[in-house]
This record gives sequence, C-alpha cells and structure tokens, in this order.
Amino acid sequence: MDNEIRNTLRQLARCNRHIHTDKSVCAAREMTVPAIIAAAETAGLECIAITNHHHYPDHDILADIAELKGQVEACRPSLQVLVGAELSALGSGAYVDTEEINRQVEFRLYACNHYHADFWQQPEVRSPRGYAEHQLATLRLLLPSGRADCIAHPFHGLYLAAVFEDTSTVAAAFTDDELGDIMQLGRDNGVAWEINVGSLLKDITFARRYLRIGMEIGADFKVGTDAHHLINVDPKDAVEELISRL
Ligand SMILES: [Zn+2]
Ligand SMILES: [Zn+2]
Repeated sequence: MDNEIRNTLRQLARCNRHIHTDKSVCAAREMTVPAIIAAAETAGLECIAITNHHHYPDHDILADIAELKGQVEACRPSLQVLVGAELSALGSGAYVDTEEINRQVEFRLYACNHYHADFWQQPEVRSPRGYAEHQLATLRLLLPSGRADCIAHPFHGLYLAAVFEDTSTVAAAFTDDELGDIMQLGRDNGVAWEINVGSLLKDITFARRYLRIGMEIGADFKVGTDAHHLINVDPKDAVEELISRL
C-alpha cells in the first residue's frame, strides 16, 4: 500500500460520519447524544455525523432529528456535529424518504444494500452477480438525483449472510471498470463513498480494490464506523488496523 492511501486514511479518521443513537433500535442503549459527544471529544475528533435509520415511511425522522439537534446544542460540543440520517434506497428510484423530507436532512447517508430487511427489494436472480447489478442499478439513479451526500457501506454483501455462505462473493462480482465508473458518477455528482471500516476489515481483498480504484478516480471518501456502541465512536484504532492489513 502506498503512502498516499495511508496518509489519506489517517486524515479521514479525524471524523466519523456514521453513528447511530439509541433512537435506532439496533444501537446500544448507551448511545445517547451526550455520551456520543463526550466520546468524540475525548477521542479528539473534528466532526461526527449522527445517522439513524429511516426504514419506514411512517417514521417521523424529522421529529427525531429536531429532538437530537436540541440535545446536541445543549451539550455545546467542541466539534462539528451533523444530525443526518441513514436513508434507504430499496431499489432503483425506490426511496423511503420523500423529497420534502430529503431536502431537510443535513447529512444524507444512503444505504443501498440492507438486503436482510424484509421490505428491501431483491434482484430477480439471487446470485452474487444479481445483487451486484441490483446495487449498480440503484446507484445509477440515486447518485445523479441530488438526494445523497454519501453512500453507506457500498457494494458488499454482508447483509446476505442468510443467502450466501461466502458473502464476499457479492463485492467480488463487480468488475474494476464497474466500480470505477460508478465511483466516478458519485464524484461527478458530489456524492462521497463511505470507508465503512468494520465491513472493509472483513474483506481485505475488496478493501484494497475499493480504495485503489476510488483514489485513482479522485473519489471523495468519508470514514464511518457504523457505531452502535460508544467504543466505536472513535474510528482511529480501526483505521490503523485497516492500514496494517492493506
Ligand atoms: Zn447500514
Ligand atoms: Zn448504519
């Protein structure tokens, strides 16, 4: 791995733009706003983004965001704290959030591959290639739509553990050209790509391809740990582990 990637990763690890609070049912109850901000300040981070799931249209995500923003302000944080959301692109042009909601979210992290959720759209052919093509089709509409600021945990098949014995076959089913083209489409539309440290550590072969291709095309990368516990608010140790294994 060259020094450029190493240095870039260390710089990016000053921020963590994928943190769930206890408003996400999957997150630990310790994930309160004051505890998250305290952990981020102790770690010396420069910015964090709170990104709770928006999985159902009847979930009032804007009310949650307003409440969380009030809690953030009361903490008087010494770092930048964005209160965004992990939005859901269930398939091509199929979004849980309305355009009106979308416009009011200050950091729009989009998940395109929560295939374990029973309401997520699935490809007709449930093969690794089928899931790769399904993600590409979703991204080709999402990236130029102006809806997204960043794509969460892109390309991998980790949420397909019930379907594939080896979930790395999904990321392996994308060609380098496809990854380069879709990451360029993101760059051209101002959409960043998440360095989801935990999932990349589970598939180092893909992590190498993803970072190399993204750096070649000048992708905007953002680090996110998908923190569900306070110990994952600081991304630096996980990023160092990633650097050591690349
Ligand atoms: Zn997610
Ligand atoms: Zn998440």
